[in-house]
Amino acid sequence: RRSQAPDYLEGLNPEQRDAVMTLEGPLLVLAGAGTGKTRVLTTRIAHILATGSARPSEILAVTFTNKAAREMKDRIAGFIGGHVEGMAWLGTFHSICVKILRRHAELVGLKSGFSILDTDDQLRLIKQIIQAEGLDEKRWTPRAFAGMVDGWKNRAQTPNEISHGEAAAFAGIGRKLYAEYQDRLSILNACDFGDLLLHVITLFKNNPDILADYQRRFRFMMVDEYQDTNVAQYLWLRLLAQGNANVCCVGDDDQSIYGWRGAEVDNILRFEHDFRGAKVIRLERNYRSTSHILAAASHLISHNEGRLGKTLFTDISDPDEVPVAVASAWDSEEEARAIGEEIETLQTQGHRLNDIAILVRASFQMRSFEDRFVSMGLNYRVIGGPRFYERLEIRDALAYFRCVVQPADDLAFERIVNTPKRGLGDATLKLVHELARANRIPLMEAAFQLCQTEEIKPKARTALKGVLDNFARWRRELETAKHTELAEIILDESGYTEMWRTDRSAEAPGRLDNLKELIRSMEEFESMAGFLEHISLVMDRDSEEGLDAVSIMTLHSAKGLEFDTVFLPGWEEGLFPHQRALDESGKAGLEEERRLAYVGVTRAKKRAKIWFTSNRRIHGQWQSSIPSRFLDELPEAHVEIVESSSNYGGYGSYGGGGYGASRFDGRDPFQSSYSTPGWQRAQKARAAQDTVLERGSFKSSRQRKAGPMTIEGELVAKSV
Ligand code: ATP
Ligand code: MG
Repeated sequence: RRSQAPDYLEGLNPEQRDAVMTLEGPLLVLAGAGTGKTRVLTTRIAHILATGSARPSEILAVTFTNKAAREMKDRIAGFIGGHVEGMAWLGTFHSICVKILRRHAELVGLKSGFSILDTDDQLRLIKQIIQAEGLDEKRWTPRAFAGMVDGWKNRAQTPNEISHGEAAAFAGIGRKLYAEYQDRLSILNACDFGDLLLHVITLFKNNPDILADYQRRFRFMMVDEYQDTNVAQYLWLRLLAQGNANVCCVGDDDQSIYGWRGAEVDNILRFEHDFRGAKVIRLERNYRSTSHILAAASHLISHNEGRLGKTLFTDISDPDEVPVAVASAWDSEEEARAIGEEIETLQTQGHRLNDIAILVRASFQMRSFEDRFVSMGLNYRVIGGPRFYERLEIRDALAYFRCVVQPADDLAFERIVNTPKRGLGDATLKLVHELARANRIPLMEAAFQLCQTEEIKPKARTALKGVLDNFARWRRELETAKHTELAEIILDESGYTEMWRTDRSAEAPGRLDNLKELIRSMEEFESMAGFLEHISLVMDRDSEEGLDAVSIMTLHSAKGLEFDTVFLPGWEEGLFPHQRALDESGKAGLEEERRLAYVGVTRAKKRAKIWFTSNRRIHGQWQSSIPSRFLDELPEAHVEIVESSSNYGGYGSYGGGGYGASRFDGRDPFQSSYSTPGWQRAQKARAAQDTVLERGSFKSSRQRKAGPMTIEGELVAKSV
């Protein structure tokens, strides 16, 4: 018998060790950020394998992203030296469910080669069903219905299981439509994303023998980021755990940030109750962050009422430790410029770009950083979603602009000729293509010629002519109108903005924001053509894997990650906390925003720097913004206000010194020399006026009254 503990246990604290070695019975590790929850899971798997307690194929481990799954596999391999190939059941809920479903597809009305619909296909299908019911699609939009379906599936409800109220929603036929949609999917041998879990749950419920099989197979089950599981995932887990109940979940109620997508932090609270005899282990020592960072984050989150409460401490003692810094900039361009310079300074001091991250609240904020970094030649990568100019809505909008500036741009024309939907079917478009090819002319020209003939149906002809007339008019206005205004007009008159405005999906408001940001970014160029040229340069830049690069991502996609240096821009009321979260969910929304702030700050190991701008320029109009209330909630002793850079000329002196050069020198940080027209006055203003940013809409400048525009961000860290 070995008397010495195996290598992988070395360095673990007693609680961590306890969690790793407790293999029997349900176990909940409830602990704050950076306490080693993920590390415990990884080590626990290594321990199970090393002690021969189970074979790799008998372990089920759920991670939040596929990337996290890959990393976990690599770590385990590192711990125990190879033989992790058999870990077939390490992945996200979705990837694990696909695997189960492929084996038993027939039992839920599918064949094993079933396809998984993407959002577009899903919407097309729903649209057909809505049309077949004779509903007005404008009022009862496919996207709205898709959102409802997602909600039901997140709660694991089949058509028969939804509430009476919801059954009667959507023109009174919610349940009927849902049932029809499910039928159609099954005829098409397809399922949507939400079905993956729902079908497996149905499979398990209806086939006890199969369930028992899996219960026996999965001798050990583990879930990371447990606080963000939804009802369906919870039910799934509970069904599987009923057999042997060797289930271990790790999570942090303070990091529950997907409530808006159906996650239920209550799952954590229910764990002890639902998994009888569960052991709960708390980890209190943080191994990630300096004491300043940890104190700042802990103090911030202590303002939330709905929490289990935890203490956290760190032993990390770093003689060079710096407080959390707070700085302001005039606007987002300057914010990007200042952060860019700071990153360069860090780089010259020997820091790697890979260890630096910029975490934004809303994806539209990425634009100014991407533009700035491209012009500086600073490598960056966008994590958890496409880069700004590669987003679906941005590509669509750019396609419109390209068609105006370059009528022969066939790719652009093809992209938007029927976006939004104008009733131009494949048959019509085929004719356009044929004519273009035969006469060797651009598509738009061919479309024009075709409209002069009787070859296409009157309805399609009218639609096509409408598009062409629009383009002709916009092209004329190119000469006279200001390019940013024209851009707005194009998106409005084409119906493109409207398409997203009536969209009920969770991504839609973020997409509208991105469109606004796109137009805003055009202001720096003389003309639309000049702008498009810039874009083609930005797009051309290919992201080489493995290159040293700064990471840019939303706070939502930063979960579980860590970096030496973290920049947190845009801490302004309305943006963070996000106005929509406040409007839609009130206090609960505010608390979720605060958890997001907590997640953001706790990503930092050594340096965290928060920024806010005093102005946001929206449609050419300056609006002064108000610093986030979260700034007031940071503990003074652990925060330093760094010299404001609002008059940009003064910035260099700070930037040159890097961190520490302008550290707060004993004055009360909240009284330090602030040249921004800002913080303190703004705090008063906020007290007087609760909602500063009114919700507005994206009206064309022609219709627009002088009303304030909204700053809405994207709640979603999702890809196109
Ligand atoms: P989050 O809540 O952000 O997901 P977490 O609780 O999962 O955080 P980990 O990512 O597992 O925390 O650990 C945070 C950091 O601390 C990692 O770099 C990890 O390697 C390190 N760490 C954890 N436990 C120890 C330990 N006992 N000794 C040294 N380092 C540790
Ligand atoms: Mg983790």
